[in-house]
Amino acid sequence: MSLRIVVCVKYVPDATGDRHFAEDLTVDRDDVDGLLSELDEYAVEQALQIKEAADDDAEITVLTVGPEDAKDALRKALSMGADKAVHVEDDDLHGTDVMGTSLVLAKAVEETGYDLVIAGMASTDGTMGVLPAILAERLGVPQVTLLSEVSVADGVVKGRRDGDTASEQLEASLPAVVSVTDQSGEARYPSFKGIMAAKKKPVQSLDLDDLDIDAETVGLEGAWTKVDSAAERPARTAGTIVKDEGEGGKQLAEFLAGQKFI
Ligand SMILES: Cc1cc2nc3c(=O)[nH]c(=O)nc-3n(C[C@H](O)[C@H](O)[C@H](O)COP(=O)(O)OP(=O)(O)OC[C@H]3O[C@@H](n4cnc5c(N)ncnc54)[C@H](O)[C@@H]3O)c2cc1C
Repeated sequence: MSLRIVVCVKYVPDATGDRHFAEDLTVDRDDVDGLLSELDEYAVEQALQIKEAADDDAEITVLTVGPEDAKDALRKALSMGADKAVHVEDDDLHGTDVMGTSLVLAKAVEETGYDLVIAGMASTDGTMGVLPAILAERLGVPQVTLLSEVSVADGVVKGRRDGDTASEQLEASLPAVVSVTDQSGEARYPSFKGIMAAKKKPVQSLDLDDLDIDAETVGLEGAWTKVDSAAERPARTAGTIVKDEGEGGKQLAEFLAGQKFI
């Protein structure tokens, strides 16, 4: 049977745009442009490379939990070459934290069927970097995280994790969850053919009922974390310009000493 790969991809607010909190102190996802988290493009790329190495004997499903517009992230992953997509969307997900998101992803992964789940190293908005580990725990399968190289053969996933002082070779039997870093290999650009083909690929929509999830275990009500307050970052000040009229070096040193940098 061909290898079933599920890639978790997140739709995130564009970091170059203006980002806000809504009145209930959740991230405002409605009034901002979003995109496929760049770090998740590496996860899609690794899935595609594993499929190519398996002579195409694999099926790649991309999965997201997110609002209506999160379909854009799925389309991008499909245009890169994934085969099909699953979108979990439900009004009751508003305010869901990492515990709820991992629960929904785990149920959706089980519903889809999988041998290997691939996630990014972190999302570019939440940047917790913990979701793959919690997901593996919920699924009850091994996790091999933060890989900069990954391959699959004979029912085993292998990879290399580069640390500050050593590189580790790790492996786990399938089914398993892995996460890949931004060192795992440049993600490909979707080709024109890929973009056209993506329009015809299936996107399945699921809600909490489909996944048999009680709404009280997700959303703001089910969240394990609570945001008490949030404030806009203060506007940048103009800074101090040191003009060199013979004493520039001295003035610079005094400024740095005054700020306790030296
Ligand atoms: C509509 C909506 C509203 C939310 N509201 C809140 C809120 O109010 N408060 C709050 O704390 N959190 C909220 N979340 C959840 C939050 O945005 C994160 O998805 C979650 O907390 C995981 O944290 P992270 O993104 O830092 O994960 P990380 O651990 O940094 O992510 C690692 C990897 O996990 C995968 N992943 C993460 N999130 C998703 C996803 N949604 N779909 C598919 N794959 C994913 C990706 O592969 C990613 O690279 C909301 C999410 C959604 C979709």
